Amino acid sequence: MTKLIFRGTGDSQGVPRVYCDCGICAGARSPQGINRRLRPSLQMSNEETGTTWIDCGPDWSKQMELAGLRGIDRLLLTHGHFDHIGGLVEWYDVCRWTERRGEVYCPAEVIPEIHARFPWLTSRMAFIAIDEGLRIGEWTVRAWRVNHGKNGYSYAFRFDSMESGFKWVYCPDSIDLTEQQQEPLREVDLLILGTSFYKEPYARESRSLYDVTEAIEHAAKWKPGRMLLTHLSHDIDIRERRALPEYIEYAHEGLAIHV
Ligand SMILES: [Zn+2]
Ligand SMILES: [Zn+2]
Repeated sequence: MTKLIFRGTGDSQGVPRVYCDCGICAGARSPQGINRRLRPSLQMSNEETGTTWIDCGPDWSKQMELAGLRGIDRLLLTHGHFDHIGGLVEWYDVCRWTERRGEVYCPAEVIPEIHARFPWLTSRMAFIAIDEGLRIGEWTVRAWRVNHGKNGYSYAFRFDSMESGFKWVYCPDSIDLTEQQQEPLREVDLLILGTSFYKEPYARESRSLYDVTEAIEHAAKWKPGRMLLTHLSHDIDIRERRALPEYIEYAHEGLAIHV
């Protein structure tokens, strides 16, 4: 049995945003603030295969403390943006002090981007391309490239269980997917999708993620069994469901799902 636990459900700046005094950010400043959110990451734990961590933003060490974890077994990365890789420098130090070699799995084209930003990581971390797929215990993992609007590209991951047949997708950063890019998202048991705003007022060319209204529209076509929204900015109050159908929910930190 594999357990997924959300460890970060915020957007690239997290909630609260440093400069912002809006109601959501003000509420999130209290330690119990329901809309307090760290940068996006997901923990995937399994007795046999240990802890796989997906994306490693700059809140990584805080997330590990909150999770009560002293180490992870491997890391999967969707793309090279700071909110998804900033914590690599912290994991590097952990690897150095615990004298182990970190395993980082990501698509080949992401590897040189990370090396350009943090060139010293390779002395303590192995970067392994997963374009041909990856197997983690019962799960086959497939990464595919998705449009990320003005921010270029990201990858999404699809996990298929060879034991139960359960299918789930992690797609935190995407917008305007082509028909082909949408194919692996269709009719999965669980779809985790990034949506930063409820309804983005900004010009299309300046955007980089779907908003919640677009997610609702696409979900009617993709037909996931359950859909969880993450990568949520200070625009989202998770207590307000507005037009969300029953099978779509906002994720929150600590939310755990058995898959
Ligand atoms: Zn992001
Ligand atoms: Zn991104």
